[in-house]
Amino acid sequence: MKANQAELVISAVAEEQYPTMDLPEIAMAGRSNVGKSSFINTLLNRKNLARTSSKPGKTRTLNFYLINEILMLVDVPGYGYAKVSKTERAAWGKMIETYLGERDQLCGVTLILDVRHAPSGEDVRMYQYLKHFELPVVIIATKADKVTKNKRPKHVKQIKETLGLHKEDSVVLFSSETGQGKEEAWGAINRLRAK
Ligand code: GDP
Repeated sequence: MKANQAELVISAVAEEQYPTMDLPEIAMAGRSNVGKSSFINTLLNRKNLARTSSKPGKTRTLNFYLINEILMLVDVPGYGYAKVSKTERAAWGKMIETYLGERDQLCGVTLILDVRHAPSGEDVRMYQYLKHFELPVVIIATKADKVTKNKRPKHVKQIKETLGLHKEDSVVLFSSETGQGKEEAWGAINRLRAK
């Protein structure tokens, strides 16, 4: 798919602000600094739509992007940033729970991981959390350009094993540097949308 139109509809902090349009939504989740904004910008052919590296201290919001009038991509604030206060962490948890647990329009989630490293405890918890809500997940193993081609299968295997990836879920190797995996990621998103 080509994102001819991509527009930030709202940065929401509360449920009342979620868009009322009844369009399928795909959420994008991942640890801070994993490359989530770069992933979104690459998918949407934009340099700076999703701001890279949203630092704590700034309000952390759910950003709803309307794509070609048919689909909503929802950028979920990154988890696992060490310097976040307890209060902020709790607010994040509540926001995520409301959105991931209760949003009818939500069709599935792309969980972005760094292909170089085994998923952290927080990544595993996030995956289990998504499965608890019975959401289909596509793992985006990004920064693939940082691992030599012949070592990539080993890294993918490690990701699958550490997460305990369910058989209905898949892994897409991705790179925002080279654009590798972009078509495949869109294919996976479209399948989530059609479910
Ligand atoms: P976010 O905090 O998850 O939104 O992460 P960003 O998109 O801001 O990326 C964090 C850092 O990783 C930045 O310095 C990016 O340039 C870098 N980065 C993101 N994706 C890739 C990738 O696919 N390959 C490489 N080599 N670097 C990447």
